Amino acid sequence: MPELPEVQTVLDDLSNAIKGKQISSLECFYPGTVILDPELGGDPFPATAVEFVRRGKYMLIHLDSGASFIIHLRMTGKLVAATQPAEPQKHERARINLGCGKLLHFIDIRTFGKIILCKTANIPLFMPQLGLEPLDKSFTAQALSAKLKSKTAPIKSALLDQRIIAGLGNIYVCEILYRTGISPIIQAGKLKAPALKRVVKETVQVLSEAIAMGGTSISDFRRIDDKTGEFQHFLRVYQKQTCPLGHPIERIVQAGRSTFYCPVCQTESSK
Ligand SMILES: [Zn+2]
Repeated sequence: MPELPEVQTVLDDLSNAIKGKQISSLECFYPGTVILDPELGGDPFPATAVEFVRRGKYMLIHLDSGASFIIHLRMTGKLVAATQPAEPQKHERARINLGCGKLLHFIDIRTFGKIILCKTANIPLFMPQLGLEPLDKSFTAQALSAKLKSKTAPIKSALLDQRIIAGLGNIYVCEILYRTGISPIIQAGKLKAPALKRVVKETVQVLSEAIAMGGTSISDFRRIDDKTGEFQHFLRVYQKQTCPLGHPIERIVQAGRSTFYCPVCQTESSK
């Protein structure tokens, strides 16, 4: 499932491929994949893609016609750039056609992904409540403390909650917690200031490293040119047998998701 680094990688790829280019139409091949804002008021195309912004795991592409795309890849969604129009491909749910004849296939096996086309002013109506943006200056230990202080859920589950921090998923939360030395099972609200500072620092570090590597391709994540990311080669605990120090990794299930952690390295309780 694409997390913040994968979404940022795709957004950067899209910006390189289509910024300043004309979009001629949006086609939908699967009911529910494309959601149209009823207030759009007519065809927003042709329009030029002018600005590319990420919020959590959502990509926002602003058009010069006053409309915007909100693209959410969810579990298996991917955008694949193509130079030639073709018949709809296997699992192709939608398509963005460019004025130059090129196009973007939206391929999504599980069909949870969405492409919303709305008035730019209406974006908040189509987005859920999202928490702290971890690569923003506003992501500080103090801000995180305010979000976590009343939480009794384990820190692992709290960091996955998009209303607390937007953009993290299972892979990166496991990696972040390993680097902080914090056990995934301690209550989120019990973390003290030094531990919170480490969470902030390692979150920024892990996400930045992963973006620099083009994301993590464990299952089916691909960039828009169908290339894989490379951060999977740098994971320390996720789906590993041992940690970098040679200790056996434990796998437990928390809130229905697998947690990988090192019980030797991650002993930090509430310090
Ligand atoms: Zn270890």
